[in-house]
Amino acid sequence: MTMVKHHINDELLMGYAAGSLPEAFDLVVATHVSLSDDARGRLASFEALGGALLEEVDATPLAEDSFAETMARIREGDMRPIQRPARPRAAGVFPKPLQDYVGGDLADVKWKSVGLGVKQCILGTAKDGATARLLLIPAGQAMPDHGHNGLEATLVLQGAFIDDSGRFARGDIEVADVETEHMPVADIGEDCICLVATDAPLKFNSFLPKIAQRILRI
Ligand code: ZN
Repeated sequence: MTMVKHHINDELLMGYAAGSLPEAFDLVVATHVSLSDDARGRLASFEALGGALLEEVDATPLAEDSFAETMARIREGDMRPIQRPARPRAAGVFPKPLQDYVGGDLADVKWKSVGLGVKQCILGTAKDGATARLLLIPAGQAMPDHGHNGLEATLVLQGAFIDDSGRFARGDIEVADVETEHMPVADIGEDCICLVATDAPLKFNSFLPKIAQRILRI
């Protein structure tokens, strides 16, 4: 069982339950939830809350067509269905939601080298302002020191990384925003593989990463 120490915040979980996140963040949340009993439990309560709100809507005298429209949306599956993500499978590095995007497991990822042994694979999520990528950081390797122009959600799938806010291992999620500046370093022992969603370019503090940024779309 994965022992998650760094949990997801309520904002992202609620956004997921409401179906209001960009697809890249949806993917990170769904993958985290399938690794964390805590997140699964909290998500269930948000979904129950969402269901209660729908009943509330049901009870209030709405204009006839708006009620019909709401029911039609539910029937057509526009609303996120109230269901629990599947429990993780015992085998494999990638939980099911991520396997569906990759079309397989870790061995099936088409990595592109981005220098210093770091590799990435940008995933085919919707072009809705956010990007999801897999990152492979060799054991002991530091990522360039950077800040953020938006949100960055990083979920560890293998190995671990360390920055000012702690050590993040499989199942742990770190959410960085415009206030956060960090230099994640992959822990020794095993290459660190993360799933990362961003909705804005990173802010690099040194010259070389700034040049590389255009090529890497990071
Ligand atoms: Zn960052």
